[in-house]
Amino acid sequence: MNDSFTISIPSDDDGYVLFQCPTCGTYFKVTPSDAKDDGVLEIFCPCCGLVGENYITEDVFELAMIISKNKAMDMIHKELKKIERQFSKGFVTLKVGKPPKQEPEDPIHSSIEALEITCFPCCQRNAKIKPILKMTGCYCPFCGVKNYELK
Ligand SMILES: [Zn+2]
Ligand SMILES: [Zn+2]
Repeated sequence: MNDSFTISIPSDDDGYVLFQCPTCGTYFKVTPSDAKDDGVLEIFCPCCGLVGENYITEDVFELAMIISKNKAMDMIHKELKKIERQFSKGFVTLKVGKPPKQEPEDPIHSSIEALEITCFPCCQRNAKIKPILKMTGCYCPFCGVKNYELK
């Protein structure tokens, strides 16, 4: 059985995907092309400047839980159906009801907060960050350098 699955995290209208720092909980967005770029080895949190182990948001995590639960329920139902068929040949009948109700696997909403597109001059890459971070200075998600007075 192959129990792996992929969850696609929808990007917003500008093509950015939402990340959440596991350390400080800050939301920020980067484009998948930047995040996967060979020149970008790690993604730094723009707020605390640390490299998170994973930036999966709680939404994505919850969705993964629902999908795996649905898959498991599905399998159990299929197994029961098999047993039902075996039983139907004999005198004992086993009736398996309708498939379990699946929980809706909602697409993840990526519009969490008003994040502004910000260009990081050190890397010439854009990320979406909270406007307040632009004023206080923030770390470049792609190289970890602290930038001030961003536009
Ligand atoms: Zn952080
Ligand atoms: Zn940079």
